[in-house]
Amino acid sequence: MTDSKEILLEVQQLQKSFGDRIVLNGIDLQVGKGEVIVILGPSGCGKSTFLRCLNGLESVQGGVIQYRGQNLAEGNVDWPEVRQHIGMVFQNYDLFPHMTVIDNILLGPLQVQKRDKNEALQQAEQLLDRVGLLDRKDAYPRQLSGGQKQRIAIVRALCMNPDIILFDEVTASLDPEMVREVLDVILGLANQGMTMIIVTHEMGFAKSVGDRIVFIDQGKICEIATAQQFFTAPATERAQHFLDIFQ
Ligand code: ADP
Ligand code: MG
Repeated sequence: MTDSKEILLEVQQLQKSFGDRIVLNGIDLQVGKGEVIVILGPSGCGKSTFLRCLNGLESVQGGVIQYRGQNLAEGNVDWPEVRQHIGMVFQNYDLFPHMTVIDNILLGPLQVQKRDKNEALQQAEQLLDRVGLLDRKDAYPRQLSGGQKQRIAIVRALCMNPDIILFDEVTASLDPEMVREVLDVILGLANQGMTMIIVTHEMGFAKSVGDRIVFIDQGKICEIATAQQFFTAPATERAQHFLDIFQ
């Protein structure tokens, strides 16, 4: 990311506790437009909690989340409005089981964004086509494989035309043969310039998709580096140790 690039989201000294347990202890991060940030770190270090704070799913105890001229770390945030711009895809999809694929995708655009039905439908069908699932638009989630459900969940997020998408271990629940089809969709988005923050344990993917790697340990950023730097010569022993486990 160059200095001239527009900053979309800026986090300063973010603090999050559950009771007296501090989970995020002063996170600082700037996310540039079009940048892909990959967050790595051991289980329990606070990766999901961090993404959830950016999406208003957790309250925060201190710090600043600067986005579109407002501080999301303060009270009185219109989260349904903000979530139209900061989308999130979770590990365990979260499609509504009683609704078809197309109805799942159109729910936000029609109910929240109050868009024209034909216009939204056209976009949804284009996106479904792009992920190779247009022929499943009338299927129910139970009729789909895990990889298909996860691609639908990504389309659903995209159909809101977000500025940023947060991905929390979106391939962690998938059978190995389905991981690739989901990662390829995310790689395609990266190539089109989508701004993304991605939590993953897929190291090869992290290396190929990430502009920068953010390594978190015990609620603090231990290291921020380009993917190239991080994977060839991490600056900290903790990051090196983490990488050794995956080799
Ligand atoms: P990661 O995604 O890096 O594995 P999490 O962000 O899920 O880690 O969790 C960070 C820490 O916060 C863990 O110790 C976890 O047990 C704790 N934690 C997460 N959610 C809650 C919660 N709702 N209540 C209490 N503790 C939580
Ligand atoms: Mg997690």
